Amino acid sequence: MDRLTIHSPAKLNLVLDVLGKRPDGYHELRTIFERISLSDQIILTRNKTNKIIIHCTHPHVPKGPGNLVYKAAMMLAQDFSISEGLNIDIIKNIPVAAGLAGGSSNAAAVLSGLNRLWQIGLSQSQLVKYAARLGSDVAFFLYNTSYALGTGRGELIKPLHVKTKLWHVLVTPRVKMHTREVFTRLKLNLTNKRDNVNILLPFLRKGKIGRLAGALSNDLEPAILSLRPDFIYLKNKLLDAGAAGVCFSGSGPSVFALIESQKHALSLRAKFDRRYTQVFVVSTL
Ligand code: ATP
Repeated sequence: MDRLTIHSPAKLNLVLDVLGKRPDGYHELRTIFERISLSDQIILTRNKTNKIIIHCTHPHVPKGPGNLVYKAAMMLAQDFSISEGLNIDIIKNIPVAAGLAGGSSNAAAVLSGLNRLWQIGLSQSQLVKYAARLGSDVAFFLYNTSYALGTGRGELIKPLHVKTKLWHVLVTPRVKMHTREVFTRLKLNLTNKRDNVNILLPFLRKGKIGRLAGALSNDLEPAILSLRPDFIYLKNKLLDAGAAGVCFSGSGPSVFALIESQKHALSLRAKFDRRYTQVFVVSTL
């Protein structure tokens, strides 16, 4: 096998609870990840050099060691003494630095893809350890699950056996939101912290869209809005247009709406297409 093509999907956070700051500087999180149908494509091809060469036409994606896929490939090449070259083609559909974890998903795709292409034979739990070294959101993508509970920095994953399929309109304003900057602005209020995961989970399991909509939550919202107060209008417009609920994903700026049906999602998208250039109808994968 000389070539492998892998789908690399995005995620949303239906809940993102920030529980506190840890001694290592990271925040302790409790989140529900949802895998969605918006995805990049990664093509891995052996080459005859001894270099890792990244091709991607997106202007904001690093083409060298700054790319998470480069780091993922280098870790495996070094640990397993693999000297052959590799081309990594990234076909980017997921907006970059948008709270959708596109880079993390690409890194997970490369870890599991190279495990096959280079016939390394790593187990799932060994891959997960590599994922945690690359970033907090990488591990989720190594699990073949629609939904998962994430704890720790987000890297401790428990797949959730939930069959509900959701429809969303996803709007990503053309603004890069840097995760670190958003966390810096976060004011932690740890008294009376609600367990938003356990509030939402029963509604998700039963597919109760109205109740689920009311239980979406993201503790980073005040920090995101402190950087971009105008995003409140986007949220309100989606609600006015008939969304059941609206929430930021990750550290933003992506906003997703929960919609009753695909048909309704398609008609809602048409209203937002003119004003925002990155508007997607997506569903649970
Ligand atoms: P995070 O919350 O991890 O920052 P995100 O979804 O907000 O995730 P990404 O799309 O993963 O953001 O990109 C974050 C940064 O990572 C970008 O500014 C980009 O320069 C860098 N990056 C590195 N590798 C990739 C990649 N394969 N795809 C996209 N961005 C990448």
